[in-house]
Amino acid sequence: MSGDILNVTDLKKHFVIGQEGTIDRTPITVKAVDGVSFDLREGETFGLVGESGSGKSTVAYITVGMYQPTSGKMTYQGEDLFADPKGRSMEHKKEIQIVFQDPGSSLNPRQTINAILELPLRIHQPDKDTTQEVLRLLNMVDLPPEYMHKYPRMLSGGEKQIVAIARALATDPSLIILDEPTSALDVSVQGKVINLLIRLQQELNLSFLFITHDLS
Ligand code: ADP
Ligand code: MG
Repeated sequence: MSGDILNVTDLKKHFVIGQEGTIDRTPITVKAVDGVSFDLREGETFGLVGESGSGKSTVAYITVGMYQPTSGKMTYQGEDLFADPKGRSMEHKKEIQIVFQDPGSSLNPRQTINAILELPLRIHQPDKDTTQEVLRLLNMVDLPPEYMHKYPRMLSGGEKQIVAIARALATDPSLIILDEPTSALDVSVQGKVINLLIRLQQELNLSFLFITHDLS
């Protein structure tokens, strides 16, 4: 497994959504993910492609620790991500970040971009000057420094997603899960966001799990 950052083996997530029968009470389950295996090499992109409802987001949420898998194995640099039943280590939380499909709902509308970017910095980079770091993050994603004072509603869809990308970078991660990061955006800005991701991957040696329903 030399060079792999993430190994996923026979991953399953079955949601119990109800019960059938009055005596035996058989659980009714949805097999959202049913035996997924893949390996992601460090510094590379693994594309997870499937139609809507095929379980892509569920894999994403398991990878960042929002869900516990029903069964299967997931290791980050050889370390079991679900070894501790109490939850994920700070180190793994820092190293694995996510960008959600809909930037409109993933950014808190009541917070400025500064506050949105400060939160992960305060938790994971407490020794650093947060204002300097916020400015560095905005610069890294090509947004003007004055954007720190704006609210999400003042930004275009593409700009909001770029802020979500900057927030993912705030912890200085190694692996970013991109769950259909351009699906909610106008075609005209999709290419801009993809080019930004390619540049960031090269500059920061990031590994990407890129989720999409669009093979192209
Ligand atoms: P995709 O991202 O590929 O569109 P999802 O992972 O969102 O797919 O969903 C896969 C399947 O699991 C769908 O049938 C969805 O309805 C179901 N599902 C997802 N999350 C839950 C949940 N929390 N409870 C019950 N069913 C769920
Ligand atoms: Mg999805």
